[in-house]
Amino acid sequence: MASEGTTKQRRQRIRKTLLLISLLMLPATMFYFSPYLIIWGGSQGIVVGSFLMFSAMFLSSLFIGRLWCGWLCPTGAVQEYSTKLRDKRARGGKCNWIKFLIWVPWLAIIILAFIDAGGIQKVDPFWNIDYGITVATPQNIVFVVALVLLLVFMVITTGRRGFCHYLCWMSPFMIVGRKLGNAARLPGLRLTAENDNCIDCKTCTNVCPMSLDVNSMVRDGRMENSECNLCGECIDSCPEHVIEYRFCRMPGHQ
Ligand code: SF4
Ligand code: SF4
Repeated sequence: MASEGTTKQRRQRIRKTLLLISLLMLPATMFYFSPYLIIWGGSQGIVVGSFLMFSAMFLSSLFIGRLWCGWLCPTGAVQEYSTKLRDKRARGGKCNWIKFLIWVPWLAIIILAFIDAGGIQKVDPFWNIDYGITVATPQNIVFVVALVLLLVFMVITTGRRGFCHYLCWMSPFMIVGRKLGNAARLPGLRLTAENDNCIDCKTCTNVCPMSLDVNSMVRDGRMENSECNLCGECIDSCPEHVIEYRFCRMPGHQ
């Protein structure tokens, strides 16, 4: 049991380290997540870096859901570190759909931009990113600082990973991808739980960076949640080892 506990601690240390690396790289990588560059490139028929990045998120989510959000996303990293300023649970729940109010019109604009340009003319991952680095042009530091301030503001005002819940333009790609993967009965990385062993201590709920009621998910036997980023905090903090990762089809789809 002791070695299992150490393995779990190590897993979260690795996750936090990956997030920190991602955060430190944000000044270089930010434009690869740009919601604007993809439209600008699209208007000229150019598939830019953020187009490729969002496509990779969508395709990977068919099998690994929102693992990206929990383990590698720089905006997620800023938010998790921002909880040191204020750590309150996000309300989430019924308001999570707000981000789709941004995503759907934005996606429509991207599609229309490409149609207007006569379709895809070329692929250039580094288009309009000097030397492939966001802050190679010093004035772009303003964009990085503005994004970081927005992320911190969202955490302080709306709670843990508030930006992920309400504003993120990237997560809908993975939410839709995950739902399509499940509908197609694809195997995927997911959480499973042995709810007989649960002692209702609620540790899993308290540690969840997405503020999910994990205890209820365990009790209801419904571990699939579109806001879950598969960070594994609930797995690694549960004293009864109730929750675990499994690569399988959705329960009921075997
Ligand atoms: S339910 Fe577990 S794996 Fe999913 S976000 Fe919450 S703590 Fe992470
Ligand atoms: S941490 Fe484990 S034992 Fe405690 S409520 Fe969550 S699943 Fe149940």
